[in-house]
Amino acid sequence: MNNYQITPDGFYGEFGGAYIPEILYGTVEQLRTAYLPILESESFKHEYRKLLRDYVGRPSPLYYAKRMSEKYGCRLYLKREDLNHTGAHKINNALGQILLARQMGKKRIIAETGAGQHGVATATVCALMNMPCRVYMGATDVKRQHVNVERMKMLGAEVFPVESGNMTLKDATNEAIRDWCCHPQDTFYIIGSTVGPHPYPDMVARLQSIISEEIRFQLTEHEGRDYPDYLMACIGGGSNAAGTIYHYIDRPEVKIVLGEAGGHGINSCETAATINCGSVGILHGSRTLVMQDEDGQITEPYSISAGLDYPGVGPLHAHLAHVQRATVMAINDDEALRAAFELTRLEGIIPALESAHALAMLPKISFKSDDVVVLTVSGRGDKDLDTYLANKEYAEIS
Ligand SMILES: *Cc1c(COP(=O)(O)O)cnc(C)c1O
Repeated sequence: MNNYQITPDGFYGEFGGAYIPEILYGTVEQLRTAYLPILESESFKHEYRKLLRDYVGRPSPLYYAKRMSEKYGCRLYLKREDLNHTGAHKINNALGQILLARQMGKKRIIAETGAGQHGVATATVCALMNMPCRVYMGATDVKRQHVNVERMKMLGAEVFPVESGNMTLKDATNEAIRDWCCHPQDTFYIIGSTVGPHPYPDMVARLQSIISEEIRFQLTEHEGRDYPDYLMACIGGGSNAAGTIYHYIDRPEVKIVLGEAGGHGINSCETAATINCGSVGILHGSRTLVMQDEDGQITEPYSISAGLDYPGVGPLHAHLAHVQRATVMAINDDEALRAAFELTRLEGIIPALESAHALAMLPKISFKSDDVVVLTVSGRGDKDLDTYLANKEYAEIS
């Protein structure tokens, strides 16, 4: 039997671990020994659950999508993470990590962000908890994601534009790690996905596992059984997917189908399909699949969706794909755009472009009519409106 659980030193099969500079060893070790006892303590659980309910708005609905079900010949349910406060699943994780940071006596929060969604979630919980917050963001992204930059500033965060490299997410992450190295005692680094050195991938997966915990009881209400035949989600770093599958990983009757960003196609040089195109390397403290050239230099990923535009992927997902527990499809820009317009017109839900990569897998699977499918809509599409407007030709319903 396959084992999908993490080992005590942070590995899923050959992927994971903690490849960090010497100076961070003590800090990461402190976090590794602290996170499980705190996350499992009654006082943490009580406060976290209460805020998830009253502040985030959980449980998020599990919605039976009737017209989409008819179209794809299955029983399709949408897990509505788009309805959370700040518009995506990222708040589940940011909230959990800031409670942990406070419990550990940390005084200052740092984060990095690409599209700005994780930066906004972090700035939000920092306002809530009255903690100073610095968000590193590539200068290119600061220009591209102006609205999110203004939201972070309004929430009281300092946005630090990073001018090195291509001035995007990878460079912002390097700068955040540099800051962490300079202030290891008082600073907590809130990482936004199931990436980074152990224990981050496991910690973030646990904080997002509320998604599958809710799916279990919601499906029981709707269908009289607590599991679906298919679980579907998009993957950038992998956190909404990890939360969606967490309580089902060891149940072989549940098929897992994940969509990564194909960009202009996996045979083009413009892609972010790390599992389909990457090779084993070390990125941001973890041994995983990465987009790199022959010299091991990280190559710039491309996707129309800023939230999926990351040159690595979480070690859990690299492992699940490697042992064939999960099927990972590369979804191209045009397929995602078509899927976003389709959901909007059939169900009245404008999804985030990231989430549209999960929706675009529906036509690629042959379902049986009684198959129960749960697909996570990771976020809402308001932030992507300019992109949708610029691509209106994909709006025709087929
Ligand atoms: C950030 C983001 C993603 C990608 O991140 P994961 O860690 O893979 O979930 C997907 N959807 C939305 C809406 C996001 O903001």
